[in-house]
Amino acid sequence: MDMKTDVIIGASQAGLRCAQLLARAGAEVEVFEHLRGPEEALPRTLIVTPELARFVPLGSDVPVRNTISGFRVRVDGSCSYVPLAQPDFVLERRDLLAWLAGEAERAGAGIHWGVRLLSVGLEDGEFALLFWDRRTGRYIKRMSSVLVAADGAVSTVLRSLECDGRATVPILQARVRRRQGFDPHVVDTWFAPGRTPFFFWQIPDSEETAAVGFVARDPSSGRREFARFLAESGWEVESVEAARVPLYRPFHRPYRRFGKARLYLVGDAAGHVKVTTVGGTVTGLAGAEAAARAILRGTSYSAELSSLRRELNAHYLVRLAMDRFTPGDYRQLLRCLNHRVLALLRDVPRDRFASVFWKTLLAQPALAFLGAKALLRAARDLPRRSSR
Ligand SMILES: Cc1cc2nc3c(=O)[nH]c(=O)nc-3n(C[C@H](O)[C@H](O)[C@H](O)COP(=O)(O)OP(=O)(O)OC[C@H]3O[C@@H](n4cnc5c(N)ncnc54)[C@H](O)[C@@H]3O)c2cc1C
Repeated sequence: MDMKTDVIIGASQAGLRCAQLLARAGAEVEVFEHLRGPEEALPRTLIVTPELARFVPLGSDVPVRNTISGFRVRVDGSCSYVPLAQPDFVLERRDLLAWLAGEAERAGAGIHWGVRLLSVGLEDGEFALLFWDRRTGRYIKRMSSVLVAADGAVSTVLRSLECDGRATVPILQARVRRRQGFDPHVVDTWFAPGRTPFFFWQIPDSEETAAVGFVARDPSSGRREFARFLAESGWEVESVEAARVPLYRPFHRPYRRFGKARLYLVGDAAGHVKVTTVGGTVTGLAGAEAAARAILRGTSYSAELSSLRRELNAHYLVRLAMDRFTPGDYRQLLRCLNHRVLALLRDVPRDRFASVFWKTLLAQPALAFLGAKALLRAARDLPRRSSR
């Protein structure tokens, strides 16, 4: 491999999409992935907005396991229903990975399965990468001047190059069997501020099964809280996945230059996740495309990311406020869902929320008041937190 080969670490959504686009444009590209193939990835139910169709031919090549026609939002004993004009899709992540890997290979990208990156350093202005091949037990060294970090929330690339890591939160998700009141086309969400800073969810992935999950405050209390929630809800649990998801922060830089060497962060490694819902599939693919464009055209990655950043910033602002919501604020939030707000949420997918952010506040000024109150609380807490 010569120095002109672009190296991508991680063959999940973001890395594979970036590899496919680079290879299709004629670039030499090599992907290194710890897993032996997409089939070794843990099964994971993904809910995605119809925006995914911009990147992936859903239905024909990537099977859709289920469709979602609306969300029930619950706070204490109250519930509101948010319908969707265009259904959300429920996929199995392995199906998506298998298709993306096939497309990247067909475009000419080389994928090295079962090869783990151990460390990255700098030698003569280039990246020096040390790998370990799980199949042969051999160490491999490679040099490159373009490196794409697509190695997820806990990135070896970021750690090796001593770049500031992403803030992450633990997430637990279980596969469960249906119970009474189960509607296979409606997602349930429960806001329970004493128990999770986000919400609990239940995403049906077939007529019989669903993914139930939540974002925890910390791993040990998270396990206890999740076990309690599952026991209270009466689901029959088939399997549980624990992982970490990154939190997007507007001030994190997704690009670094070390002499001639250029580093691009994509997907979870870049924190390209909507922090309202921790959905990172569509946003990760959009970021991967922006990185591919910047590499191919020699343009600024930051500029290529501008529309994605606008979207992620809108979700960031909502999260900043919701992190300070009291139980009373959540009840008020539910009361704020008037027919104008519901119409906006119905018609515009979550991955295009920025386009209706201000319209939503105009449709229900009480929402702006609720958000402003919570943001003021956050600002007031800042000096107290920094003096600790
Ligand atoms: C339980 C759970 C449920 C989720 N549900 C949803 C959902 O419903 N909808 C949604 O949109 N998003 C969801 N997400 C988020 C979404 O899955 C992620 O945002 C997305 O997978 C990020 O893709 P990625 O390609 O950036 O990174 P990852 O999927 O994390 O992939 C990173 C890849 O890099 C490889 N790797 C890591 N380190 C190394 C190394 N040192 N050497 C070689 N390879 C390495 C890993 O093996 C992996 O294949 C969920 C996340 C979790 C954890």
